[in-house]
Amino acid sequence: MFDQDKIRIRGLRIFAHHGVYEEETRLGQTFVVNATLFTSTRKGGMRDCLEDTISYADVCQFLTDYLQQNTWKLLEAAVEHTCRALLLRYPLLHKVELELEKPSAPIPLPFDSVSVSITRSWHRVFIALGSNMGDKQGYLDGAVQALKENPCIRVDKTSSYYVTEPYGDVIQDDFLNGALELHTLYSPEELLEVLHTIEKAAKRERLVHWGPRTLDLDILLYDVLIQDGPVLTIPHPDMQNRDFVLRPMVEIAPHLVHPVYQKSMKTLLNELPQK
Ligand code: ATP
Ligand code: CA
Ligand code: CA
Repeated sequence: MFDQDKIRIRGLRIFAHHGVYEEETRLGQTFVVNATLFTSTRKGGMRDCLEDTISYADVCQFLTDYLQQNTWKLLEAAVEHTCRALLLRYPLLHKVELELEKPSAPIPLPFDSVSVSITRSWHRVFIALGSNMGDKQGYLDGAVQALKENPCIRVDKTSSYYVTEPYGDVIQDDFLNGALELHTLYSPEELLEVLHTIEKAAKRERLVHWGPRTLDLDILLYDVLIQDGPVLTIPHPDMQNRDFVLRPMVEIAPHLVHPVYQKSMKTLLNELPQK
């Protein structure tokens, strides 16, 4: 778990050009930023050394430059992009709460300020990889490489690849399976889209359910999120029944607890009925 230490910036005033109206982008106005940076201040605190923490002076300068060099119509867009830029720039930052106020917003009524405030963070995710057609190892390696090249994804750990017999009733070649751990700025839906793009690039065609495929990438776990929907179910609804998922998971995260079954990966694997 991350420490919940915070560095706060209040009332940073920045003259910039965001707005829906043409006069706003032409003339500009003053915006006010409030930011809470979630990081561990312990090391900086113990060693009393600026290199071990996030410099708030540097963050204030970065926020000013970033919000002056870009122009968005909506405060929503400005905060979304700014949060992402902060999380990409500061490796010690794992979560940020950002409020952007517009005290001179074009509203012909008496008011103090309007603002949009959002919280964004890195998320810990586990992915299952599988292939049973062509150059299987090449497809799995290619997927890992594609994930590594995405700036909004940081691959932390990859398992070995395991040869496994096919699942379901379709007669087909053996699978090569693995799992990996990553951190990402994407929401589950955005991440699924990224995985689908990588599958498509590997010439994946959805012909038969559980049939042969060049590349299959499933989201196993996303933080401790539990969600059941038409497009996306997390945790993956069948992971606890699959030794080809649990074996690589035990290799990279044996003590990780499944948020629904409340059992570790190791326990889930040990409890699988023997074939
Ligand atoms: P299984 O999900 O049982 O392993 P599969 O991987 O062969 O089967 P696909 O044809 O690859 O199934 O995926 C079908 C759809 O499943 C995807 O388009 C996606 O919308 C949906 N889906 C639901 N939950 C997940 C998840 N956790 N990870 C990936 N896809 C998911
Ligand atoms: Ca699958
Ligand atoms: Ca899939």
